[in-house]
Amino acid sequence: MPVLSVALDLPLHRLFDYLAESASTADIGLRVRVPFGRGERIGIIVDVASESEWPQEQLKAAGDILRDLPPLPADFFCLCEFASTYYQAALGEVLLQALPVGLKRLDPPDRRKARAVRKPDPVPPPALTEEQAGALAAIDLTAGFSVHLLHGVTGSGKTEVYLRLVEQALAAGQQALLLVPEINLTPQLETRVRARFPEAGVVSLHSELAEAARERNWRAAFAGEANIILGTRLSVFTPLPRLGLIVIDEEHDSSFKQQDGMRYSARDIGVFRAHQLGIPILLGSATPSLESWANAQTGRYGLLALRQRANPEARLPLVHILDTRKKALQEGVSPALVAAIQERLARREQSLVFLNRRGYAPVLACPACGWVSRCTRCAANMVLHLADRRLRCHHCGCEHRIPKSCPTCGNQDIHPFGRGTQRLETWLQAQFPAARVLRVDRDSVKSRKQWEAMLELIHTGQADILVGTQMLAKGHDFPRLTLVGALGADAALYAADWRAPERLFAQLMQVAGRAGRAELKGEVLIQTEYPDHPLFAALAAHDYPGFAARQLKEREEAGFPPYAFQAVLRAEAPEMANAIAFLKAAASLAVVSENENVMIYDPVPMKLARLANLERGQLLAESYSRPALQHFLPCWREAIESIKAPSKLRWHIEVDPLEF
Ligand SMILES: [Zn+2]
Ligand SMILES: [Zn+2]
Repeated sequence: MPVLSVALDLPLHRLFDYLAESASTADIGLRVRVPFGRGERIGIIVDVASESEWPQEQLKAAGDILRDLPPLPADFFCLCEFASTYYQAALGEVLLQALPVGLKRLDPPDRRKARAVRKPDPVPPPALTEEQAGALAAIDLTAGFSVHLLHGVTGSGKTEVYLRLVEQALAAGQQALLLVPEINLTPQLETRVRARFPEAGVVSLHSELAEAARERNWRAAFAGEANIILGTRLSVFTPLPRLGLIVIDEEHDSSFKQQDGMRYSARDIGVFRAHQLGIPILLGSATPSLESWANAQTGRYGLLALRQRANPEARLPLVHILDTRKKALQEGVSPALVAAIQERLARREQSLVFLNRRGYAPVLACPACGWVSRCTRCAANMVLHLADRRLRCHHCGCEHRIPKSCPTCGNQDIHPFGRGTQRLETWLQAQFPAARVLRVDRDSVKSRKQWEAMLELIHTGQADILVGTQMLAKGHDFPRLTLVGALGADAALYAADWRAPERLFAQLMQVAGRAGRAELKGEVLIQTEYPDHPLFAALAAHDYPGFAARQLKEREEAGFPPYAFQAVLRAEAPEMANAIAFLKAAASLAVVSENENVMIYDPVPMKLARLANLERGQLLAESYSRPALQHFLPCWREAIESIKAPSKLRWHIEVDPLEF
């Protein structure tokens, strides 16, 4: 009897065999109901063979093979197999995470047809700048696989280059996949794509869509009915029958990296997929990741530059570095920034004060006994949120009411220390009582609707001073915004995390790019106690290439990525000693000494050593050769699986980690 090899959504590196009377190889790629344990599951048929390595009498019979969808195609399997091998993830997990939830349900709900959306009138494309035309001319959609990095300053019109390429792909009868970091933060992009291509069938795919909508959109993409797929990282796995172009906007953004479950980089998967299909991929950013920039410098990627803003009237903002060492600051704000805001108010222009820390204050403390508001479940402080009178842990989400007195000594005089956006908002409102102050962070904007309402307020000039986190930095045009002030930038300059300067530069560059995008000239004031730091000099000169060259040189000297290749093994357990003992056992496996090209470092606690009552340790594996690391990892993983670990210990391997 035919035997089905079925992939199930389990963290196990194996397939499961079932008997199926009438199955044939034509069923490979279909979903199937199978008995598992005491229940039933939905799996994907990976193979149909005449025999199994298990005796047939031990195999159970499969349930129904589901035929509501055509089989998942071979290139989808190939993509998932690559991701499984590269990231040391179980194939079943990779295959099934790529499907929308509704397709994995044992009792699928009835799906009603979507209401037809009114199609907008097509918007004619704007004329191209010389630089945009040059970039477009460099990419040939008919020439097979290529990777291009589009480095364009904020406001230089990268999106227009994407849209023109999409137009070419559509004209050639192909589908285009456009990946963005966070779709909810960029409703303008979605509107723009729909308006430009009203007849193309545009679908979005992201985790905040309702289940039914996501399934509908996924089906339309898979069936080839939708021609433009606009999605976040997971959509990179969507099977698309006519895919001809991949675009990854803001390719440096860390949200392309999945940090839990199957830990993968959608950008890197995108590059593999383009290679697999022999199609072009375009990565765009004003501040590319240093990995991509290094690839562009060595010629592995083509480099396209947009140095001018698309609107010739809109010049890049003037960036001033404000030395705050000898200034009397009020709530962290310098007199120069106060004066600059005052000027904008007088001219009826908008200001933005950027502080990438939400809440009122990072901690509540008692000066009498030294008590601080620690989270009881994490190695972190509870953040004070005065707006809803809570102490909240930003790591595990745990929260409490604000105590009236010190829980340790009873002192009633407990204080907030440091500042976040809420505190800044309160102070700015007191300082400028006539101004309309608007705070924009994840506490004030929780849904797409709220975000759209907020953008509306800003656009229609109903706010004078914006206070916000990096949420405000992402790709929006605020025509009346002419001043950006940045506070609290110094922490990242000398952080232990060697990626911190890269992130800080990207963040400040992005937020600076909000100033002066229309006819009004923009000004950016960055407060710092390290005014001579080269990062600020590069920022003031809008010199990303200079910044990147210096960073890459430092990394090369230190032997950090992209000049070395890394993976971490992490273990979490109720006791740190157990986690570390497990990691030590993993480090002393025979396979480690057999692979001399891979360095294994000592196990250490993670930066956030305790999260939600689990102690977390990690171990870095590093090599100067990617093939050597890739050869080592599966052998190592298999050997680790045989270590006897305490029952509550969990472990995983992350390849190309961004955080430690
Ligand atoms: Zn106290
Ligand atoms: Zn916590």
